[in-house]
Amino acid sequence: MKARAFSYFRAATIGEALDAHARAGEDARFIAGGQSLVPTLSLRLQAPRLLIDITHIAEMRGIGREGDFLRIGALTRHCEMLSEPLIAQFAPLLRAAAPFVAHPAIRNRGTFGGSVALADPASEFPAMILALDAEIEIAGPSGRRRVKADDFFIDLFETALQSGELITAIHVPLFRANQRFAFDELARRRGDYALVGCGMQATCTGERIDDIRIAFFSVANAPTRVREVEAALIGSNLDGGRIVAAQAALASDLAPPESDEVPPAMRLHLARVLLGRLLGRIGEAA
Ligand SMILES: Cc1cc2nc3c(=O)[nH]c(=O)nc-3n(C[C@H](O)[C@H](O)[C@H](O)COP(=O)(O)OP(=O)(O)OC[C@H]3O[C@@H](n4cnc5c(N)ncnc54)[C@H](O)[C@@H]3O)c2cc1C
Repeated sequence: MKARAFSYFRAATIGEALDAHARAGEDARFIAGGQSLVPTLSLRLQAPRLLIDITHIAEMRGIGREGDFLRIGALTRHCEMLSEPLIAQFAPLLRAAAPFVAHPAIRNRGTFGGSVALADPASEFPAMILALDAEIEIAGPSGRRRVKADDFFIDLFETALQSGELITAIHVPLFRANQRFAFDELARRRGDYALVGCGMQATCTGERIDDIRIAFFSVANAPTRVREVEAALIGSNLDGGRIVAAQAALASDLAPPESDEVPPAMRLHLARVLLGRLLGRIGEAA
């Protein structure tokens, strides 16, 4: 199928993009990498009258340190998450997740901000910014604000982003020497959306876990932190018994929905397997 006819506007600044959206209202969509939006236009699942191209807005590009955070411009492409040394040094969990996002052709165009804005529950990056306690920088008609990832993801493709608002960057706390991270996912084929995926980052003193944040994707309507599991781990050493207890606690945090693809009990089982593997890696690193 072909998309319905639409007008196209290339914004040079955040102000131009916001103004264009304010004039067109609900009939407008921002377009970044287009890797998720264009298929929905072609299938006529959406038919906006105006596409506002945000890919030439300089302020939304670039990666740099700002205080205790790494500011990652929303237009950073998935392939840059793989190749940029600052990501590997200060946000290694994002680097670890990047090769699992789609395929090279999609990673060459798709953007970090686009992935976070879309908030697909099966996507890697939304869950990872939850695990990293990141903050989302937003510009909109009523000004600029920063929202914590914990408050950003609300429900299926639903976020704290209001109509006409742009994600301009994501701020990730800088990775420290006493932190450990682990990421993995289970998919039928490499590059497919995961059946279950998980990423975690722990702050340790020796072998003791002082703090840990664990986020799953493809298990619920939105990326999900497993707080009971986190609580079961904090203050302890990661021995085999502790990992088994954490796996048992997972049922209090996750209730995977019915799906034709994987029954809920199977998905919970896969999540337990993944949790055990990743905690084992954190334990080895500590
Ligand atoms: C075959 C295929 C396989 C894929 N597999 C995976 C996968 O395994 N894992 C994964 O995570 N993703 C996957 N994707 C999705 C891909 O990662 C997308 O690139 C990404 O989700 C959206 O980024 P984008 O820049 O292309 O956004 P676009 O398609 O341009 O936009 C998506 C939505 O976000 C909005 N938007 C974009 N940028 C902003 C912004 N800065 N502020 C506010 N709103 C914005 C747009 O208006 C639109 O509604 C796959 C896509 C395809 C086609």
